Amino acid sequence: MDMRKTKCALCCTQDDYTILYAENLPTAGISSVEYDSRRMRDYMHFQIVKCKTCNLVRSDPIIDPELIDNLYKQSDCSYTTEKENEPLARTYGRYLENIVNSYDVNRSSYLDIGCSNGFLQDVRKKLNEKGFVIAINHNIGSISYKFLREKSPIIDIEHTYLYDLTTMRKIFEKNQFKVHKVFPVKNWVTLSRLLELMPINEKSKNILAKIQNGLGIQNMQLPLYLGNLGIYAQKN
Ligand SMILES: [Zn+2]
Repeated sequence: MDMRKTKCALCCTQDDYTILYAENLPTAGISSVEYDSRRMRDYMHFQIVKCKTCNLVRSDPIIDPELIDNLYKQSDCSYTTEKENEPLARTYGRYLENIVNSYDVNRSSYLDIGCSNGFLQDVRKKLNEKGFVIAINHNIGSISYKFLREKSPIIDIEHTYLYDLTTMRKIFEKNQFKVHKVFPVKNWVTLSRLLELMPINEKSKNILAKIQNGLGIQNMQLPLYLGNLGIYAQKN
C-alpha cells in the first residue's frame, strides 16, 4: 500500500519522533469499512508517533489523503439514531450555552461543522472578525487514555492528530486565535454506547448488553469524563 509521511502540525518536523504504537492494519487492505463513523471496535490504526519537539501525537505514515477522502465518501454514517444524537446534543449544548453566557458573543449566526477531516484554518476563513469557535476533540492527556493506552477508542485509523490541553492551545495560537479556555469535557453518554466503547470481547459485550436490555437501562445517560477536551477561542 502506498504510504505517505506526515508532518507535525505544530512544529512541522517530520522524523523527529518516538514511536508509541506499531501500525495495526487490516491484512486484506484498508476499505471504507474502517472509516464508518460508528463501526464496531476493531483496534485498527496507523503507526502512532509522538513529536519529540512539541509532544503532538500523530499517525505516521498514513495512506494517500485523496484515498482517505474517497473512503470517507463511501463510508457509512451510522449515528443517526436518537439514542446517539440526544446525549451528543446535550453535551455540546451545555458548552454552547456556557460560551454564550460567559463571553461577549455576537449571536447573529453560528455554524456547526463535523471536523473529522480537520478544518482548523478553514474555520478561520469562515469566521467573522472576533468570532468565537468551540471545538471538542479527543484528549490524549485524559485519564481514560492513560488507563487504556492502545486499547483506547482514540487510538484509531481515523485519527491523524491527537491533542492534549497544551497542544490544542498551541495549534489555535499558531493559527492566530486568542484562546480563552481549554478544558476536559464531560460527555453525556448512554449505557449502551459506553458498552460499545469498552475494550472487552464481543461475547462479554453481548452478555452485558442482554443484562442492560433486561433491566431496561440501555438508554440511561451518565455524565462522564470520557476522554475529550474542549476549547473556546476567538479570531484575532
Ligand atoms: Zn512537533
